[in-house]
Amino acid sequence: RERAREILESAARRDTNRLGVEAMDLLDAYGIPTPRGGVVDSPSEAQALAEDIGDDVVMKIVSPDILHKSDIGGVEVGVPPEEVRDTYEDLVVRARNYQRDATVLGVQVQEMVDLDSGTETILGMNRDPQFGPLLLFGLGGIFVEVLEDNTVRVAPVSEPEAREMLDDIDSAPLLRGARGRDPVDEDALVETVQRLSQLVTDFPAIVELDINPLVATPDGVQAVDLRLTLD
Ligand code: ADP
Ligand code: MG
Repeated sequence: RERAREILESAARRDTNRLGVEAMDLLDAYGIPTPRGGVVDSPSEAQALAEDIGDDVVMKIVSPDILHKSDIGGVEVGVPPEEVRDTYEDLVVRARNYQRDATVLGVQVQEMVDLDSGTETILGMNRDPQFGPLLLFGLGGIFVEVLEDNTVRVAPVSEPEAREMLDDIDSAPLLRGARGRDPVDEDALVETVQRLSQLVTDFPAIVELDINPLVATPDGVQAVDLRLTLD
């Protein structure tokens, strides 16, 4: 909790109230699993980090001015180590083409998550003036807008309430292993819902937060992307 406070305070000192993947440590501080990786601000550091990860990586532009990174070509999946330097430059150029004066904090280099064995879900929070923090759980990734399969509870949520959220969505059978797929780790999902519930309860300054996707696999969950707004 102390670590989370420090992360939020240092963010608040910058001149933006919008944070992205550079704030992934916040999730980490609350025990929500995130893929290995970090944010770097040069091609050579990106290269070093990728070598440390030791496999193909995902690279994402980190900018408070870019809300949907993939919309502007700001996400490259499956980058081999020898292409990391060039990809760094490409991502920055694309950000500048999109908005010439965009603030670019750097590039996130992230371990690849196996999406084939997983399901992309979304876990988010919105503060309602009347009800307070509303937690949203649903199907994530490209399906968010199309299917709008989600459910909402007021935080903080109990364990049974968190579990109920998984049951609530139409795609629940997908999580349970429809069509011969292995069921995802439901306990890990339930725990993650509760941990996020705790985070937004502890920090009223977070007015809005989205983990999309939160990838649920048979072996646990991974928060792959983060976006949040401070008041
Ligand atoms: P944005 O939502 O801003 O476009 P994301 O970080 O969510 O950026 O990345 C977009 C998509 O790229 C994700 O929905 C996911 O399908 C894929 N992706 C992102 N990070 C990873 C990763 N670490 N491993 C595998 N796929 C990823
Ligand atoms: Mg996303």
